[in-house]
Amino acid sequence: MGCNHRVCLHPSRCSLVFLSPAPAEQHGTKRLEPSSAKRLTDIGTRKIFSSDHDIFRESTRKFFQEEVLPFHAEWEKDGQVSRELWEKAGQQGLLGVAIAEKHGGIGADILSSAVVWEEQMYVNCTGPGFSLHSDIVMPYIANYGTEEQIKRFIPQMVAGKCIGAIAMTEPGAGSDLQGVRTYAKKDGSDWILNGSKTFITNGWMCDVVIVVTVTNREARSPAHGISLFLVENGTKGFNKGRKLNKIGLKAQDTAELFFEDVRLPASALLGKENKGFYYLMAELPQERLVIADLALASCEFMFEETRDYVRQRKAFGKTVAHLQTVQHKLAEMKTNICVGRAFLDNCLQLHSEKRLDSPTASMAKYWASDLQNSVATQCVQLHGGSGYMWEYPIAKAFVDARVQPIYGGTNEIMKELIAREIVGDN
Ligand SMILES: Cc1cc2nc3c(=O)[nH]c(=O)nc-3n(C[C@H](O)[C@H](O)[C@H](O)COP(=O)(O)OP(=O)(O)OC[C@H]3O[C@@H](n4cnc5c(N)ncnc54)[C@H](O)[C@@H]3O)c2cc1C
Repeated sequence: MGCNHRVCLHPSRCSLVFLSPAPAEQHGTKRLEPSSAKRLTDIGTRKIFSSDHDIFRESTRKFFQEEVLPFHAEWEKDGQVSRELWEKAGQQGLLGVAIAEKHGGIGADILSSAVVWEEQMYVNCTGPGFSLHSDIVMPYIANYGTEEQIKRFIPQMVAGKCIGAIAMTEPGAGSDLQGVRTYAKKDGSDWILNGSKTFITNGWMCDVVIVVTVTNREARSPAHGISLFLVENGTKGFNKGRKLNKIGLKAQDTAELFFEDVRLPASALLGKENKGFYYLMAELPQERLVIADLALASCEFMFEETRDYVRQRKAFGKTVAHLQTVQHKLAEMKTNICVGRAFLDNCLQLHSEKRLDSPTASMAKYWASDLQNSVATQCVQLHGGSGYMWEYPIAKAFVDARVQPIYGGTNEIMKELIAREIVGDN
């Protein structure tokens, strides 16, 4: 094996992956702040990270540059990425990074997961639904699954051979999750599932989907009658609709899902009956943190892309970067991004210590995704007409940004969650 890493979970891949929570002393206070670094995407900055994270970031960056970026335009035409990519990501140790080793995951910390989220945004390729699979779907199985469910799904998901999705939204229920109509009725020890879901990320390619379902219509409130089920692709009565034609995220397979008299064994129930809503409330802060960090990383990418553009684009005999209005615009953007990064890194650190509360995660999601859209608009403007052309990365970053204030709970709902804590009695 020849591996001298502190923790090596996959000796065959140890040149690429050696992750474990770094000792506190390695989180050096002497690391450069992004504001002082040459570029906002530089490796070796930000005091929440250690040198272990840096090495992992280097190999992750290489993976996205070599295995994702060159193929992404083709995947945009297909409306999905390749299966092969998922398996390559699995071999590289990029899936289920923060899932505990005892559950079959890589066993690293959430900051290592953040490295994967950020590096994907630094290549501006939104196709692979890795973060949803690894840090939104897998935690439900690891945290609430039976030993049998964990053994069945987690190792396959880490290997990229089983793609995960989560289906909450329905044609008639999005923001108001308690309005879900998909219903599972008991039949002996089995369940019979009927209903439909829409806008489901990884929906077309998924091998397993967590379905948010009503299981008790008589409950004292809808929240008390919701359960989660694991439904596998190929189960009779489970059909996938078309890949939805979105204005952005062109290489991501977002789909409708239909369930018609799907017979599920008792072992398909994830966690306890009628406790699904509580599980959702417990897991949603991490989903919001993922979206927030993706947003901030996209801002960092767009800023650097635009800095490069204005430094070479000529107008009136000088580069555009010579114009003072352009310089001020860049100064404002960089300041906003660095202020946002400081808050986001604090949220990441809090979450790694299991201290991130729901209102704070909501603040991060709403503020960072709004910033992403503001930065995207300004960066397109600084590109002039080229910014409107698909072959320029900034055009893609602009359309991809638009959904971020919408999914994962809209930003209006985020403000509801923040406000509730401000004016609530507790
Ligand atoms: C690309 C994409 C991927 C997605 N992936 C997934 C996925 O993997 N799984 C999944 O389950 N869902 C997914 N979604 C769905 C997404 O989470 C929902 O679209 C989102 O929660 C909003 O729900 P809605 O579309 O029904 O909007 P609505 O709930 O109909 O909202 C419409 C408008 O009303 C506002 N509004 C609603 N209620 C309130 C309120 N109480 N106060 C103030 N304003 C309010 C909203 O903010 C919004 O502006 C995805 C969506 C997209 C576009």
